[in-house]
Amino acid sequence: MIENKVVIITGASSGIGEATARLLASQGAKVVLGARREDRLKAIVEDIKANGGDAAYQTLDVTKPDDNQAIVKLAEATFGPVDVIFLNAGIMPTSPVSALKTDEWNQAVDINIKGVMNGVAAVMPTFLARKSGQVIAVSSVAGIKAYPGSAVYGGTKWFVRDFMEVLRMESAMEGTNIRTATLYPAAISTELLGGITDPGAAEAMGKLYEQHAISPERIASVVSFAIDAPEDVTINEFTVGPTTQPW
Ligand code: NDP
Repeated sequence: MIENKVVIITGASSGIGEATARLLASQGAKVVLGARREDRLKAIVEDIKANGGDAAYQTLDVTKPDDNQAIVKLAEATFGPVDVIFLNAGIMPTSPVSALKTDEWNQAVDINIKGVMNGVAAVMPTFLARKSGQVIAVSSVAGIKAYPGSAVYGGTKWFVRDFMEVLRMESAMEGTNIRTATLYPAAISTELLGGITDPGAAEAMGKLYEQHAISPERIASVVSFAIDAPEDVTINEFTVGPTTQPW
């Protein structure tokens, strides 16, 4: 069931996060949006409210543990205990290893890996105390297969896959009733390619996305499906992409 669930969404200022916030709110969830661009969050939340939904936002840098704790507190104070956290914030600065974009490697590790760990660490105490909760994370098809240009980005997404699977196993072993779901999207039309600074990688990705990319609403509907499943069911992994995309 989705109605009245309190759902935190990281990276909710654009793309998949924004689409998911809008869809879940329209289905009766109480959504709490986090990202760094406050102007975007404010506008999206105002729009959701104008359409009759329940929403709040807080600026959030997922690399900062305190920010993650703060958004959980805001959600609890505004709507009550958190039911779901959607760990969606991420960057994709793809480039060949030989380009040695080491600053971007470190940013990707900080946001895509540590951001996920920080989000889980912030929400776990309430999930454990209530023996209930759902963690949904966005990996990528680059978290399942190796792609040239994605040595570091793909590595961060392989991490998400491992972390989420172990979380699922341990939650079952510990009897905490925490459900997990991990998404492996292919080309989705969002602002993600804007973070690619390597000209060759930008051109190749640009062509691929121009040809194939589908709307972020397609991913939002999968998140909604995972949340809506009965509490005794974990639908754990979703690989989702354009019908036309071969790889
Ligand atoms: P967008 O660039 O549109 O969205 C990324 C979101 O992450 C933005 O809201 C951005 O907000 C947020 N974000 C980035 N850094 C931080 C940070 N340090 N703290 C908090 N929020 C942050 O791209 P997508 O919607 O496509 O990306 C969402 C997820 O989907 C990512 O994890 C991405 O890797 C994954 N993905 C996307 C695919 C695609 O084809 N689009 C394919 C596979 C996976 P702000 O800048 O305001 O902080």
